[in-house]
Amino acid sequence: MENCIFCKIMNGEIPTTKVYEDELCFAFLDIEPLAPTHFLVIPRKHIASAAEIDGDTAAVVGHIYEVIAKLAKEMGFSEGFRVVTNCGADAGQTVHHLHFHVLAGKQLGSFN
Ligand code: 5GP
Ligand code: ZN
Repeated sequence: MENCIFCKIMNGEIPTTKVYEDELCFAFLDIEPLAPTHFLVIPRKHIASAAEIDGDTAAVVGHIYEVIAKLAKEMGFSEGFRVVTNCGADAGQTVHHLHFHVLAGKQLGSFN
């Protein structure tokens, strides 16, 4: 997808710190971390948001959660972690390529 910063990160046009990659997804550190550990996991396929997940794309979301569980074990998030996907304007989505924030390393505040 042209002009998508996350597609550009994946294809190396924008530098990043990679955390993990496989044939279906890519994970990298958030540029403005909100916790001691804050990375994003994205599908390789450009999907605009969680609102676009359908029967064809649901499997990659399951795979991403499997990857997150594996990384959480490897990174030793023994006290827990949070997975968040912002969808649309009211949720404050700023990049329109589906992404899952993974936050860990501090007590995270409750939602309101
Ligand atoms: P959203 O607000 O859409 O849920 O999250 C977008 C996230 O992408 C934000 O946390 C923001 O810091 C991160 N971000 C935006 N541009 C870049 C970038 O160029 N590189 C990296 N690593 N993260 C970015
Ligand atoms: Zn994209």
